Amino acid sequence: MKAAVRIEGGFSVQEVPEPPEPGPDQVKVKIAYCGICGSELHSIDPAYTAGSSFWGKIPQGVDISRLIGGHEASGTVVAVGSNVNWIQVGERVAMNFRTPCGTCYYCRNMMEHFCERPIPATGSYAEYALYHANAVYKLPENVSLEVGAVLEPLTVAVHAVDQAEIKPGHTVAILGAGPIGILILEVALKAGAARVLVSEPVEARRALASRLGATIVVDPVNEDLLKAAVILGEGRGFDRVFDASGKPAVARQSCDLAARGGVVVLVAVYPPGTDISFPSSYPGGKELTVKGTLISPYCFPRSVNLLSELDLEPLISIRPLEEVNEVYHDLLAGRGMKVLLKP
Ligand SMILES: [Zn+2]
Ligand SMILES: [Zn+2]
Repeated sequence: MKAAVRIEGGFSVQEVPEPPEPGPDQVKVKIAYCGICGSELHSIDPAYTAGSSFWGKIPQGVDISRLIGGHEASGTVVAVGSNVNWIQVGERVAMNFRTPCGTCYYCRNMMEHFCERPIPATGSYAEYALYHANAVYKLPENVSLEVGAVLEPLTVAVHAVDQAEIKPGHTVAILGAGPIGILILEVALKAGAARVLVSEPVEARRALASRLGATIVVDPVNEDLLKAAVILGEGRGFDRVFDASGKPAVARQSCDLAARGGVVVLVAVYPPGTDISFPSSYPGGKELTVKGTLISPYCFPRSVNLLSELDLEPLISIRPLEEVNEVYHDLLAGRGMKVLLKP
């Protein structure tokens, strides 16, 4: 089958062996679309690869099936294992890329995202991929395979909003309007956010944020973000602030924009080795709470429900798998939102 295999600095689209027939608890899926994740872009971004032993380096002697990229996929079931009786060949599905083991300390303490022995799926920049049945979700009738491929990143936004504990009427600021920032905007509005400021340097992304319900959009490079924040936040700052930018300076700015008693959620992956700091008055003077996020524990079933309730089509564009390297560079330059690769 055709697949995009990770090489130093990018991908090589080549013929690789198709995944085997499913084991008793597995499901084999013909991939329809696979989105590109912001975290994957870091593998070719010098800010992340420099001085790091993890990003960018390809370990020696790894099975080629483990080097296939991609984890945000939708598709059609082509084979199911003997224990899987709740899903049939031909059904349309979207997938998680890992399955918690269910037996480790964290899985048994309602923290599946910290699982010590997760079962990985095969990469989905490919014509076929193999999943544990626990990672497979049926798509509702009225949800297309294109929108279905947005399920995994949507779960990340749902977890970020869970972490923020948004209450009806809260004021919200979102710094960075890439796909995750935009998805947080839509989920935060559903969760009851009353006024939302979105800060984003790329004009097309600001326009999309406006169209999808942002109260105000700010260009942080050419406009005065703090001034806009003072006006919309009525001088207090925002009840909830999300950093979806990945820049340590913006993480600090997120803390500055939070109101007293506010919650800051850092959704981004920051370059390795960087520090985030804030004034010593913030913990006591503002009772600031700063939370991180790691993937999306227990968010998939609710996110499936949201697929048909949110406006996800405006985020999506489709490119052939063969263009994976060009698309990565386009996304790093801020061109495109949720780009789906079609194998
Ligand atoms: Zn992802
Ligand atoms: Zn576990």
